[in-house]
Amino acid sequence: MQFWRWLVLLSTVVLAAAQTPVRRPVSLIVTHGTVVTVDANRRVIENGAVAIDGRDIAAVDTSDAIDARFSASDTIDATGAVVMPGLINTHTHAPMVLYRGLADDLALMDWLQKYIFPAEAKTVSPEFVRAGTRLAALEMIESGTTTYADMYYFEEEVARATKAAGLRGVLGETIIQFPVPDAKTPAQGIARAETFVREFQGDDLITPAIAPHAMYTLDTETLKACRRFADSFATPVIIHVAETEAEVQASQEKFGKTPVAYLESIGFWGPRTLAAHGVHVTQADIDVLARRRVAVSHNPESNMKLASGTAPVIAMRKAGVTVALGTDGAASNNDLDMFEAMRQAAFLHKLVSGDPRAIPAPTAVEMATIDGARALGMDREIGSLEPGKRADVIVVSMQSARQTPMYDPLSHLVYVTRGDDVRTTIVNGRVLMRDRKVLSLDRAHVLSDARGFAARVREAVGPEGVKR
Ligand SMILES: [Zn+2]
Repeated sequence: MQFWRWLVLLSTVVLAAAQTPVRRPVSLIVTHGTVVTVDANRRVIENGAVAIDGRDIAAVDTSDAIDARFSASDTIDATGAVVMPGLINTHTHAPMVLYRGLADDLALMDWLQKYIFPAEAKTVSPEFVRAGTRLAALEMIESGTTTYADMYYFEEEVARATKAAGLRGVLGETIIQFPVPDAKTPAQGIARAETFVREFQGDDLITPAIAPHAMYTLDTETLKACRRFADSFATPVIIHVAETEAEVQASQEKFGKTPVAYLESIGFWGPRTLAAHGVHVTQADIDVLARRRVAVSHNPESNMKLASGTAPVIAMRKAGVTVALGTDGAASNNDLDMFEAMRQAAFLHKLVSGDPRAIPAPTAVEMATIDGARALGMDREIGSLEPGKRADVIVVSMQSARQTPMYDPLSHLVYVTRGDDVRTTIVNGRVLMRDRKVLSLDRAHVLSDARGFAARVREAVGPEGVKR
C-alpha cells in the first residue's frame, strides 16, 4: 500500500513538471510598459514587454505572455513609460556640437563661409572630433537616439568614439573640393575614405559611408569619383541637396539644371543614397528621387533656423520617396533632440499646407523610426520592435505634469515629450543609459573636455568670429 501511494505521488509530480513549460532564458526583459512597436500593423501593446536575447529582440508581447515564455537575468521595469524603437537621426555632423551657439541668426551661405568653414579650418583635429563625437553621443543617448547618420572630417575618429559609446552609426567621410583639416585635396579625402571603409566594413555598429558635401562644393569629376567609390565598396552615399535657393540658382547658372537634375545627368544617383534637405525641389526633381530610390532626410529645425525654406515633404511622400527626419549639426539647430524634430516637422507642415492633418503624430513617429531605418537601407535590422531585429529600444517616461493625463501615447511622443523624458536607452542589446545614468560614457569627463575645446574655438576665431 505504501508503495502505491508513493507511486501516485511521484506520477503527480512528474505530470505537473511536464505541464510547466520551460522558460527560455534571455539576457534582458523590458516589461510593464506601453509598447509602441511601429511594426507593420503599428501594434501598441498596453502592459507590454520586450524580450532581448544578446543583441536581438527575441519577442514582443504582453508582459504576461513574455513572463510565461522567458526568464531573464536582468529586468527593466517600464511602468508608466512608453517602450519604443530607438530614434534614428538621419542627418547630423556630430562633432559640430562643439560649435553650438557659436554663430546664430545667419543665412546658410553667410553662416558657412564667414563662420563655420573658417572656424573648422582653425580648430578641427582628430582630438576635436573625438571630444565632439563623445559629447554628441552623450546627448543622443540621453535623448533616445540609437542610430545616426553623420558626415564630417576624420570620420574614423567619429566611428571609434561612436562605437565606444555603443551607438549605431552610418558615418560618411566628407569629401569637399577645397583643402579641409583632414585632406588637402578631394583625392586625399577619397583615399582617407577608403582606409576608413576598410577598417569598419562588416562592423556590428558602424556602417562606413562616403559623403560628398554638396554639388556646390564639389566639381563634376569628384562627384563622379564618389559614386564610383560607393559602387565599388558598396557603401551608402550621403550628400546635401537643394538646401537653399542660392544653391539652385548657382546650379541653374552653371549647368542650366536644378541640383537634382544635374546630379541625375552625371549619373550620381544610385542605391543607398541619402539626400539631406531637398528643400528646393521641383515635381520633376521629386520624380527623379522617387525613380532612383533616393531617400531624403528632412531637417525642419535647421531649415527654419537658417531660413532655408520648407521641403515639400507631403509631395515627396506622395511620390513614394522615403522621407526621414534629422536634426542637422548642432550649430544650426542647436541640439540633437529627435523628439523636437518630430514635433517641428508636424507643426511646420501643418502651418505651411494650411492642413492640420499634414504629418499626424503617428506619421512623425514613423519618420523618426522605421522611415529612418528605410532611408539608411537598414529596415530589416532596426526601426521597429519585432523579433529578429536588433535590440535598439528606448524607455520614455510619461510621468511628468506635462505628460499627464495620457490618452494616446503617439500623440504624447510627438506633442509633449522631450529628449529628457527618455529614461533608458538600449542599443544592440547593450544598456547605454539606465534610469538616466549613462553607462557607456564618463559624463563629467565628456562635458569638461568639451568646455576645454570651446575655449580653443573662442581663441581661434577671435572676438570677431563669435556672432553676437
Ligand atoms: Zn548638414
